[in-house]
Amino acid sequence: MQVPFTDLKMQNDLIKEEAISSITNIIENSSFILGKAVSDFEEAFAKAHDSKHCIAVSSGTDANHLALWAHGISHGDEVIMPANTFIATAWGATLCGATPVFADCHPESYNLDPVKIENMITEKTKAIIAVHLYGQTADMDALKDISDRHNILLIEDAAQAHLAEYKGKKAGSLSSVASFSFYPGKNLGAFGEGGAVTTNDDELSRKIRMLRDHGSEKKYHHEYYGHNYRMEGIQGAVLNLKLDHLDKWTEKRRAAADKYRKLLKDIELIKLPLEMEYGKHVYHLFVIQYSERDKLQNFLNSCEISTGLHYPVPLHLQKCFADLNYKASYFPVTEKLASDCLSLPMFPDITDDQIEFVCDKIKHFIKG
Ligand SMILES: *Cc1c(COP(=O)(O)O)cnc(C)c1O
Repeated sequence: MQVPFTDLKMQNDLIKEEAISSITNIIENSSFILGKAVSDFEEAFAKAHDSKHCIAVSSGTDANHLALWAHGISHGDEVIMPANTFIATAWGATLCGATPVFADCHPESYNLDPVKIENMITEKTKAIIAVHLYGQTADMDALKDISDRHNILLIEDAAQAHLAEYKGKKAGSLSSVASFSFYPGKNLGAFGEGGAVTTNDDELSRKIRMLRDHGSEKKYHHEYYGHNYRMEGIQGAVLNLKLDHLDKWTEKRRAAADKYRKLLKDIELIKLPLEMEYGKHVYHLFVIQYSERDKLQNFLNSCEISTGLHYPVPLHLQKCFADLNYKASYFPVTEKLASDCLSLPMFPDITDDQIEFVCDKIKHFIKG
């Protein structure tokens, strides 16, 4: 049996007919950039994420940039973020000219550990980015307490956390501004690149809308320095169709995670992901830890089971950040995760048979 790491075919097929008709419509109207398809999606996505505003943009990376840029973060500023994340979290800061400051993650949530960031705050610190990694929200109350006391900005990178919850509230509504990605492999994926920013702040929303479109609200009148970070009409149309299915797809991911958990719970050498009591995990990834990760991954590969590593090199040890002078050993939880993590196949349409096959092979490997 072959088990891919992720498989979008079933969900693409499900919306294909409707997508073709929406795309035909866009071609006929030549509404290729923004337009009604995008504004309809913005409205629906904001609503689904308990947010007053959604600004659809060209990628999650661009959304990260806009979130900080709109707050005037710039040269000389420091932005605290987890070392355990995808590199695009850091680009938000570097694109503003700011310096990323990395921190270790919590041993159970794998997200920014509030206990470890307070002593990193300096007079240059302007923002904290809470990444809701793997589909689980960070401990937002604890982070908010710190950001409030030091009067610094708290934002969310929710690229992996569509419909995830913290104490009953949706990711994207838990801070001043949040970014989402619609990269095809994310829980909600476009037919190409896409991203969004959500916020409850009217003024901020207006500004981000302008920054996305050359700093202007009225054509050829430019209030701010800007950029072209607009979403394409086709992506808005596809995302809106997929959004209708996202609740169901999320529940299927959660059911797949439960099944993995049941089948793997007796293997002591494997550390399973924990769903924190404060939230609802949407399992963008199902990440286990095992000390001989590489051997296990090779074995699974030989059984035609594809797995992933999220992430094998933490940000503080990336070559591009060598000048920031971080050393291996600085962030023990993150570094252990980098060497032991293994992401098992996870997508809404994964079958029980596929999950059983993966777990059987893991047990076979570990029990020898
Ligand atoms: C995917 C991802 C991004 C970037 O999104 P793109 O749409 O690929 O630019 C940012 N942050 C995290 C945590 C991600 O997983």
